[in-house]
Amino acid sequence: MAAAAGAWLRGCAKLRRHMPANLAPWRIAPRVFRSSKSELKPNLASDGLVCAPLQTFTEEEAMLKDMVTKFAQERVAPFVQKMDENAKMEDSIVQGLFEQGLMSIELGEEYGGTGASFFSIILAVEELAKVDPAVALVCELQNTLTNKLFTTYGTEEQKRTYLPRVSKDTLGSFCLSEAGSGSDAFSLKTRAEKKGDYYIINGSKMWISLAEDAGVFFVMANTDPSLGYRGITCFIVDRDTEGLHVGKKEDKLGIRASSTCPVTFDNVKVPESNILGQVGQGYKYAIGMLNTGRIGIAAQMLGLAQGCFDRTVPYTKERVQFGKSIFDFQGMQHQIAQVATQLEAARLLTYNAARLAEAGRPAIKEASMAKYFTAEVATLTTSKCIEWMGGVGFTKNYPIEKYYRDCKIDLLAGFLSVGLKSWRNLELRLQTPQYLTTVILLNTIYL
Ligand SMILES: Cc1cc2nc3c(=O)[nH]c(=O)nc-3n(C[C@H](O)[C@H](O)[C@H](O)COP(=O)(O)OP(=O)(O)OC[C@H]3O[C@@H](n4cnc5c(N)ncnc54)[C@H](O)[C@@H]3O)c2cc1C
Repeated sequence: MAAAAGAWLRGCAKLRRHMPANLAPWRIAPRVFRSSKSELKPNLASDGLVCAPLQTFTEEEAMLKDMVTKFAQERVAPFVQKMDENAKMEDSIVQGLFEQGLMSIELGEEYGGTGASFFSIILAVEELAKVDPAVALVCELQNTLTNKLFTTYGTEEQKRTYLPRVSKDTLGSFCLSEAGSGSDAFSLKTRAEKKGDYYIINGSKMWISLAEDAGVFFVMANTDPSLGYRGITCFIVDRDTEGLHVGKKEDKLGIRASSTCPVTFDNVKVPESNILGQVGQGYKYAIGMLNTGRIGIAAQMLGLAQGCFDRTVPYTKERVQFGKSIFDFQGMQHQIAQVATQLEAARLLTYNAARLAEAGRPAIKEASMAKYFTAEVATLTTSKCIEWMGGVGFTKNYPIEKYYRDCKIDLLAGFLSVGLKSWRNLELRLQTPQYLTTVILLNTIYL
């Protein structure tokens, strides 16, 4: 057997040596996009990683997952319908998220955080989204955006001031979009004028998630419009700062329990020390946050789809037509199996992207694919579930139609997943080598 294999390998080598170069594609070094570098490291053990099935959790992650499942069932589920109807998040839920350490999952204990893995955030978001994607969004934004902005770009002073607050009781909001700048986000008109050692911010933001209850705002404002997007700077603004006004929240189709409001800045005075990172680097921070945000959104869509599926399949087993349960018809089973398989694939993409990001490996391509695919799967799943439920799936007596409404936000263009077509154009415009990968990637995936 071994001798035969050896002869076969020698034969292949000989064949390769004698083959004209243009007929020997394996001689040509493969061109690999920067974002695919994650595939070029076969020796995981040298990175301190162990090869294990993707759905393997550490003991800590498994415990956190169980805890969040319980929290979602006991503390969130009883309020879901009411929160959707009233478009208002129950205070006890946000308070519970803080108390359970779910708003500071990855933050170090020195800042009051849980000190758990990035993957734990993904598991928590997935479990919460199974029950209510709006609650999952609160957890997701706080962990992958607010906390990440402070830890990645904040000064020591800013970290000491804000991280204990955002891990204890303070929500963060990210103010980028404006009435005239949505997909073309960096054409924003909000200005920050330097006056000595402070800045005066004037402008209006729209669509700001969690703004109704947020205690701290990241505000993207241009400090030097002559530089175009290179003037965009990120300011940390406390809610009680004079001149900051949060307007009436939008009456939305889905994820209604989480608020989305306009926020205006009327001569808001902010000390220079409240600049996050560097002047003129705000656009980079916004793009930089996209990647982990994409994985978070993928987890939200995954949980949403799984939650909807889990609530529908038992109904198909109970519902009797033509003398047997509708689940027993092969025509139904084919469809259910197809959706179950799509869900499994979505989970593997999401978990893989999360593990790569956690290991500090390039994950732009994987995160984009996970986000794109889970959104597609959530749309398919929720639509199919309504059909499988028959007439009752179309009513508010069952939660299925809510999942269907909630999942639209991801395909619509949440600001972290902004109309990908548009980000592609935007990044093409930026034309910096750093973002070339993303451009290639988005072209590859979304064209
Ligand atoms: C629920 C919700 C929460 C949000 N939360 C936040 C938040 O917390 N912070 C924040 O800053 N923003 C937030 N946003 C805003 C969000 O980022 C914008 O809605 C998004 O960027 C799209 O902008 P727009 O709505 O102005 O759509 P438009 O930019 O007007 O786009 C309309 C359509 O045109 C398409 N389009 C635009 N440009 C192109 C192009 N060049 N090529 C092809 N197609 C194109 C888009 O894909 C889209 O389909 C939120 C929005 C919603 C709905």
